[in-house]
Amino acid sequence: MALFETEALILRSYNLAEADKIVVCLSRSAGLIRGVAKGCRKLKNRFGAALEPFTLVNLTYYEKEHQELVSFRQVEILKSRFNLSSNASILTGFSYMGDLLIDFSPPHQANDNLFRMALACFEAASATPDDLDSVLRYFEVWILKLEGFLPDLRNCAGCQKTFTVEEVVYLGADLSLRCAQCSVSLRNAISKRLRTHLCATEKLSPAKFAEGAREESSDTKRELAELTFQIIGRVLERMPRVRPAS
Ligand SMILES: [Zn+2]
Repeated sequence: MALFETEALILRSYNLAEADKIVVCLSRSAGLIRGVAKGCRKLKNRFGAALEPFTLVNLTYYEKEHQELVSFRQVEILKSRFNLSSNASILTGFSYMGDLLIDFSPPHQANDNLFRMALACFEAASATPDDLDSVLRYFEVWILKLEGFLPDLRNCAGCQKTFTVEEVVYLGADLSLRCAQCSVSLRNAISKRLRTHLCATEKLSPAKFAEGAREESSDTKRELAELTFQIIGRVLERMPRVRPAS
């Protein structure tokens, strides 16, 4: 049995037996992990409020070979989000991001970029709750990109030609982007504005992206929301459990 220590973001928990919980978290050094927190539902327990969803913690756990469930030993709060617990829309948004992390991250596979991106998004939405929708769009684009599902935004998947700034491009059934010549159906057009807005996610932090998005037209925002929704639905072969209405 080996002992590990890592930063982790608590995502969800389920009751187990009389007094325990199974806790799902995204950790920096081991990716998505599921662990048993023994006795955490007893009035006096060593975990306190550290297992509340969306808390950033320093986690120490035991892992047995060939067992998916780890065993939590110690959990210290690094950052609590208790102050947001009365904000229903933020909580729905956080749950949505948590669901996507669970759906998209293979267990026990560290992905430092994903961990940092997720933290930055939780941070940005906490700091400016009014920007929640734009932060969620940023999060969707990046989780798709980091897990290899975001189409190449710059080159046609058919002829490999680099798109011009002005060009309208088309999303194919295989989730790739094509120029007008290579597109089979000329359906699912992606406007120039949407592509520019999408490309902004690559250069900016979630907070900066969301700040810029305040100037964006509601049409472009809706187009982006539809696009990510469509890609996520096709990747998961169902819709995410909860998606906050924008
Ligand atoms: Zn082409």
